[in-house]
Amino acid sequence: MAWRAKRNRLPTKLELAKRNVDIPNKMCALSESCEESADHIFSACFVATSVWEGIERWCGLETIYAFEVRYLMEVFNFATGGKMGKRIVHGVIVVVWCIKKARDDSIFNGKKANIGKIVASVKSLLFLWLKSRSRFKKIVWKNWCKSSLYML
Ligand SMILES: [Zn+2]
Repeated sequence: MAWRAKRNRLPTKLELAKRNVDIPNKMCALSESCEESADHIFSACFVATSVWEGIERWCGLETIYAFEVRYLMEVFNFATGGKMGKRIVHGVIVVVWCIKKARDDSIFNGKKANIGKIVASVKSLLFLWLKSRSRFKKIVWKNWCKSSLYML
């Protein structure tokens, strides 16, 4: 999914309309503020920017400025915190996944996006992803929720 997002190959409303699919409402399912493109959903949308702010605070990162999805995928190149920090920031894919899931839930299940729930989903999925790797077996959920930095 991240690969498709980076190459603008996700079936967003705008991309579907470009391919002659009849899309009566091309507005973003998360915010209704702009036409729905991958760049909007994952970087420009206020729901996405709020989620990214939550992740930045949790990870102790400086503000992530990315106006296109492809730049989001390169954030880990500039991460601090050594190898562990870079691995945690690889979680950018988890953030993109959770935003996409919130967008899909809005369209297909009529659920309004909840920024706090999206950030919580990112934390739990990333925890499970790292915990399943032998190198990260000792991470503890209680500490993880406070900050991912306790691991560094
Ligand atoms: Zn939006």
